[in-house]
Amino acid sequence: MSGAISCGSPIWHPFTQHALQPVMTPIARSEGAYLFTPDGTRILDAISSWWVVTHGHRHPRIVEAVKAQADTLDQIIFAGFTHAPAEALARELVALAPEGLSRVFYSDSGSTSVEVALKMALGYWRHMGVARTSVIVMEGSYHGDTIGTMSVGERGVFNAAYAPLLFDVKRIPFPRPGREEETLNALAAHCAEAPAAFIVEPLVLGAGGMRTYCPEVLAAMKRICEAHGVLFIADEVMTGWGRTGTLFASTQAGISPDILCLSKGLTGGFLPLAATLCREDIFAAHYSMDRARTFFHSSSYTANPIACAAGLANVQVWREEPVAQRVATLAAWQNAGLEPFRDDPRFENVRRCGTITALDLKVGDAGYLAQVAPRLMAYFLERGLLLRPLGNTLYVMPPYCVTQGDLAEIYAAIDAAPGVLA
Ligand SMILES: *Cc1c(COP(=O)(O)O)cnc(C)c1O
Repeated sequence: MSGAISCGSPIWHPFTQHALQPVMTPIARSEGAYLFTPDGTRILDAISSWWVVTHGHRHPRIVEAVKAQADTLDQIIFAGFTHAPAEALARELVALAPEGLSRVFYSDSGSTSVEVALKMALGYWRHMGVARTSVIVMEGSYHGDTIGTMSVGERGVFNAAYAPLLFDVKRIPFPRPGREEETLNALAAHCAEAPAAFIVEPLVLGAGGMRTYCPEVLAAMKRICEAHGVLFIADEVMTGWGRTGTLFASTQAGISPDILCLSKGLTGGFLPLAATLCREDIFAAHYSMDRARTFFHSSSYTANPIACAAGLANVQVWREEPVAQRVATLAAWQNAGLEPFRDDPRFENVRRCGTITALDLKVGDAGYLAQVAPRLMAYFLERGLLLRPLGNTLYVMPPYCVTQGDLAEIYAAIDAAPGVLA
């Protein structure tokens, strides 16, 4: 076969253009907010290894729980069987989640948690004997990279090749400041056409560019869905576990979603695990002597005991350590770090939601935009910082154990970043 590309590894990396980035950075060890290369070079993990690590890498409690679980029970089938870590974690999740979410369905990634949510919603209406099958989504959203989750996410270069496989959805505009009414009106109009569900990322659209909107809009969207009997799916895969300043972003709006998707920080970022929580009546609609009403979904590794033990340890860290206080302190430090950029003419849309900050680098030439992120990423890496801009959007989403000194390094590098592109 011709066209073989010579390189040292057989690995095809995610979201990586191998022609432009032939060499990957090897990481040998992690601790707290830091990664270490095999030669001992320290890299500050300013994006929590793609938004998953909350307390810091290798939190001792989670390490211990995983070790102990590995010595007891590894993996078992979860259809017709159960185990203590899954049971204990499910009880904790129901206790911690917004009120009214009484059932927990386990899977293994954010994408699968969203697929499960969509299937729960469609199954609910089918079993209720109501013809509601369409889904409303928000412009600029990201819900994963499987066919179903791409369908409900923003369309673009990332999924253009797969468009023929994606299903149609109804879109509402992002609630830009001052234009919130347009979003709410569009939602009300779509809701009037008897859709099955509305899926949204509460308060922050992550991969869509860390775009933030206020709790009042989130609450208003929930009220509209409720008034029309449309199921409200909160995708808190990224926003959950403290990122927005509270354990879940939904609570800031005082809402209880009908279905809630959790993953990323669910194990503190230690192991892959996801949970989709739902209202009792959604479970009840599937509860029947008729096998045809079974919820036909499973992943092989559903509720893996070791991952559940990590999830349970994460919950214990939240309950027994001053995590809420750490989150509040980090949010304040982040705010202070961002302050000088608020009237810096080189940046715009300077924003923060809880522990997450973001700002857009002004880039004159639009054609040049695609090169900005990889060039900046390389620059940050040279300075020992893992930052991965989304286009011209720079964002900082560190683990909660990061120090004020670490943040100072990050913001100094951001301050010097425009010069690198000049
Ligand atoms: C990351 C993310 C997902 C997908 O999670 P994976 O674990 O990568 O499949 C879904 N929704 C949101 C909001 C995310 O940020």
